[in-house]
Amino acid sequence: MKVGFIGLGIMGKPMAHNVLKAGHTVIAYDHNQTPVDELVAAGAIAAANGREVAELADVVITMLPNSPHVRSALFDKDGVAEGLTAGKAVIDMSSIAPLASREFAQKLAEQGVDFLDAPVSGGEPKAIDGTIAVMVGGDETVFAKYEPLLKTMASTVTLVGGVGAGNITKLANQMIVAINIAAISEAYSLAKKAGVSPENVYKAIRSGLAGSVVMDQKSQKIFDGNFDPGFRIELHIKDLQNVLDTSHGVNVSAPFTSLAMEIMQSLKAHGHAKDDHSGIAEWYEMVNDLKLQD
Ligand code: NAD
Repeated sequence: MKVGFIGLGIMGKPMAHNVLKAGHTVIAYDHNQTPVDELVAAGAIAAANGREVAELADVVITMLPNSPHVRSALFDKDGVAEGLTAGKAVIDMSSIAPLASREFAQKLAEQGVDFLDAPVSGGEPKAIDGTIAVMVGGDETVFAKYEPLLKTMASTVTLVGGVGAGNITKLANQMIVAINIAAISEAYSLAKKAGVSPENVYKAIRSGLAGSVVMDQKSQKIFDGNFDPGFRIELHIKDLQNVLDTSHGVNVSAPFTSLAMEIMQSLKAHGHAKDDHSGIAEWYEMVNDLKLQD
């Protein structure tokens, strides 16, 4: 299959590498030329803009920060829509607002182009290993056609409903991750101030009911005070804004998400927007005047 790939950042670049390794032709484009050059060195074809990607590809994957970036990549001058013809497809793997996914699907359908929203979970290590989880919204037949392609990047690929359902699932995921990191940081702060090593607490409870993938992936970063991203706080703020907009739109109250959002906003105000989201622990360190490293 000829696969266009737009957005070659922390996640998109390793994902595109895995598509390439699986034997597909990859046509790559990013505003930033460096990752494009890296992919070309591995066998991909470089395109000058989104239109050229869509002209050369059967299906175009986008992996961009948020809804406005996807809208711009698809519909601006020299964007993807200009190069698409009926029977081609767009798979947006970015985490964006579900209503934006529905808007894009509708516009592309007018050209006879299929659309799936297929955001991912798992972070950079799993993007490199090809073991991310993909949650897909869209039509069953379109899903069946592109499931093998998605599996070149993922260990699980799940159709969760119609267009937009993928991003609603991703929002649920992001609520749970943010609140989980805050809960872990709060618990480690209690342990530290009460004189018990947070690392010992982690070892003792990780296989019990409180244990989680989040606890396993983020605790060492907290103990090392190493908040290199990973998943940046500014991106998680974007996701929680989409959570709050969507939950208020359907009349759901999300108090714990709001708290996690305010902690991240405070970290951003203190210059930590580009830290990994495990940097929520830094907020607990600030307000409690402690360090979580032993
Ligand atoms: P990133 O900022 O590292 O990469 C985004 C890339 O898009 C950059 O290379 C940028 O140059 C490019 N770009 C932006 N606008 C563009 C445009 N109009 N045309 C072409 N290129 C453009 O972001 P990331 O961490 O790779 O995240 C991408 C998406 O995946 C986000 O929606 C994020 O929420 C989601 N996500 C990230 C992680 C993670 O751990 N980083 C995990 C799961 C999901």
